[in-house]
Amino acid sequence: MRVFSVISRSRYVSGRGRSAGLVAAVTALLALILLPAIAQAAAPSVLDVRLGRSGETTRFVLELSGKVDAKAFTLADPHRLIIDLPALDWELGSDFVPTGKGLIGSFRYGLFRPGNARVVIDLTGPAAISRSFVLPPDPASNRQWRIVFDLVGTSDQAFRAAAGWPDAQPAAAPAPKLPDVPSPQPASKARKVVVIDAGHGGVDPGALGARGTREKNVTLAFAKALGEAIRATGKYDVHLTRDTDIFIELRERVNIARRHGADLFISVHADSIERREVRGASVYTLSEKASDSEAARLARKENAADIIAGVNLGGDSDDVRDILIDLAQRETKNLSVRFAQTVIPKMSKVTRVLRNTHRFAGFRVLKAPDVPSVLIELGFLTNAEDEKNLTSASWRRDTAAAIARGVDAYFAERTAEAAAQ
Ligand SMILES: [Zn+2]
Repeated sequence: MRVFSVISRSRYVSGRGRSAGLVAAVTALLALILLPAIAQAAAPSVLDVRLGRSGETTRFVLELSGKVDAKAFTLADPHRLIIDLPALDWELGSDFVPTGKGLIGSFRYGLFRPGNARVVIDLTGPAAISRSFVLPPDPASNRQWRIVFDLVGTSDQAFRAAAGWPDAQPAAAPAPKLPDVPSPQPASKARKVVVIDAGHGGVDPGALGARGTREKNVTLAFAKALGEAIRATGKYDVHLTRDTDIFIELRERVNIARRHGADLFISVHADSIERREVRGASVYTLSEKASDSEAARLARKENAADIIAGVNLGGDSDDVRDILIDLAQRETKNLSVRFAQTVIPKMSKVTRVLRNTHRFAGFRVLKAPDVPSVLIELGFLTNAEDEKNLTSASWRRDTAAAIARGVDAYFAERTAEAAAQ
């Protein structure tokens, strides 16, 4: 395993004779003028990301407003380069779309954990970091601080030998835990608890819309609207798995629901597909057998969220967990189906839904053994009409209100059943 810690080194600081004194004086003056503005900035900003290619070498450059330390390492299956950084403001503009060049297929960036930003680079093949360094600001070329990585191609064998996790993992991640079976019953709750999960986030942008809309932003806005709509009934406790642009592992989303003692878990997403004419919402519940190939495709895509973000999946023995869970899960599955069947008619009154709206597939985020869970795909970001809806506050309000009516109807039915027993 090879971990590259990139810290700035003084030998890269270039002062060119007498002009350096003048530059220093001007910089000091500028600093005085700019100080109040800079003091307010909590974190350095990423000003630009540049890719370059020279012969066999592919260069990746992050330009930043300040000096930061970076740590880089590679991961196999698929070939990825991960760069861990402190929290940063990404000032790349909402229309910035990452591209590839040379050994870089594409890349993602964003908050990974509180205080920890991450860049995940998809490599086009096995590659190694041949050089990495930090350059200080260069007034002559109007460049700020730069972190530079040079990549060269390598053999798959060499890549695998070097790939792996650094000993020191960034920030304190909540330890992934196997769900306990059977579930701990929280002391008698006065009110039903609904946990809403905004899909994706941070370094995992999710699907990309025709006009550049990112799924992670759509899901967060909708989760907030849905939370408001359900709270407005005055009957339920509502929690969100995230209320900022941050990455959360799939298993941790499940754990958040269980820690809150959720009676219902709703994960919201937006899909993308090659056929741009396809539009409409759909509701998914858990099944090891997907209801159709489209549902299977979708589950594969959504389940890849942890790989996309560069999460350590080592020791995740899904097989064992699945067997344990299956024993406790039948009733939960039935209730999930009941909720899906209750909410779909409410949704179809206010928005377009797909044919065979209720579908089944093996979504990892729906695997709480004791929490009825559904995943709602609100629409397709690749469809112009749907993308317009998904970014419209009034559509969000109407659709969230419809789902809230579904939540209310579902719990009313459950209460009536319990009273009749
Ligand atoms: Zn999604």
